[in-house]
Amino acid sequence: MFTHTLLSTFSFLVIAAAAAPVDESWVQPRDSPVHELFYKRAPNPSDPNFASNYPAPGSTPPTDSLPQAWTDKLKTINLPDVQPSSPNNGYPTYADGETPNDQKICSFTYECTTDEDLYNPPSGVLALSFDDGPGEASPDLYSFLATNNISTAATHFMIGGNIVYNPTGMQAAVDAGGLIAVHTWSHQYTTTLSNEGVLGELGWTMQIISDLNGGRIPKYWRPPYGDVDNRVRAIAKGVFGLETVVWNTDSADWAIGSDAQYTHDSVVSQVNQWLSGNKTNGLLLLEHEIKQTEVDVFKAIFPSIGSNGWTIKNVADAWGMDWYVNSGKTNTEAITTMSVGASTLAVTNQTTSQQSSTSASASASVSTTSGSASTTSAQVATSTSTSPATAAAAANSGSSSSASSTLVIPGFALAGLGFFAALFL
Ligand SMILES: [Zn+2]
Repeated sequence: MFTHTLLSTFSFLVIAAAAAPVDESWVQPRDSPVHELFYKRAPNPSDPNFASNYPAPGSTPPTDSLPQAWTDKLKTINLPDVQPSSPNNGYPTYADGETPNDQKICSFTYECTTDEDLYNPPSGVLALSFDDGPGEASPDLYSFLATNNISTAATHFMIGGNIVYNPTGMQAAVDAGGLIAVHTWSHQYTTTLSNEGVLGELGWTMQIISDLNGGRIPKYWRPPYGDVDNRVRAIAKGVFGLETVVWNTDSADWAIGSDAQYTHDSVVSQVNQWLSGNKTNGLLLLEHEIKQTEVDVFKAIFPSIGSNGWTIKNVADAWGMDWYVNSGKTNTEAITTMSVGASTLAVTNQTTSQQSSTSASASASVSTTSGSASTTSAQVATSTSTSPATAAAAANSGSSSSASSTLVIPGFALAGLGFFAALFL
């Protein structure tokens, strides 16, 4: 349902030299109880009223009925002075005089990354991730992953609205042992949203993932289209404890079928070239699981991953980090009261990506579009013809046996009930 028509605008970025330091004031103290921001419950996906637990899929959740715990937490965060971007033919643009790739804004759309962004895995590691699920092609992917004994090495960045439509699809990924992460509620360009809009997009997706995974609260999110800046990063990390994950290589699997320049064979060929390159930097490959053509790309490149000696890991394992904010390194470990905000992310070598050396021409042509948003789209589209795809890259017990809700924040309950009544009754 979510297309990537405009993704072409962003998919030919190259990890640039701009690496902004992290403002430590964003980071929650160790004792910050992020887990208390969510309902502790386990609604039954087969209940005909399952969807009534959530905002309507497909659009940003209403900002006037967010759980008060989230809005209260937002007020405690020291946000950078960055205003929302404006969609300009769909492309996020900033006010005149602003520099989107400087340290103040640091938009990944404009090639900027921070010290805490996750996109360059350690040497020799291919961090496996699939976006936009659960969808129609997901069962085939999960079957393939299981057949090859790599289900637990997959990171699934899921869209909350898609989970509402297909909760058993997400549960299948959980049952297979995959790492479940956040790809927002309705797949918007997050820098264009208000602070409260970002809250809803992230918070509700975390809630539904927690509901269907024994109360495990996601620790990782990937911005749709890679569109994130320092304001959005601060909300994700400061309110919810989420680590921002982007990528250093775009497979361009999403373009098959919508851009004639990309075919299954051309995409597979390009990815195989990257896989046969050096492994000084790890590979975080942008891939998807919503369309069969996307899954078919992964199935086709999979043999090259092994034959070229890559070690496949999910995003958490790639950096040796926990899978969830409040749980360890599987979908079955006990829920803990683990605090967040203490992580030290070993992101290295941000100025050189695995692919920058193999597609220098793309790097040069695309990088000239940086900071010139109004013309970027056409220029990038041109560049794609010759150089595809280098991208910048429940309960506390853990039991899901009870369907009752134990609400931590009374205000949350009241706001939530009123909200759902208005929406669904
Ligand atoms: Zn996506």
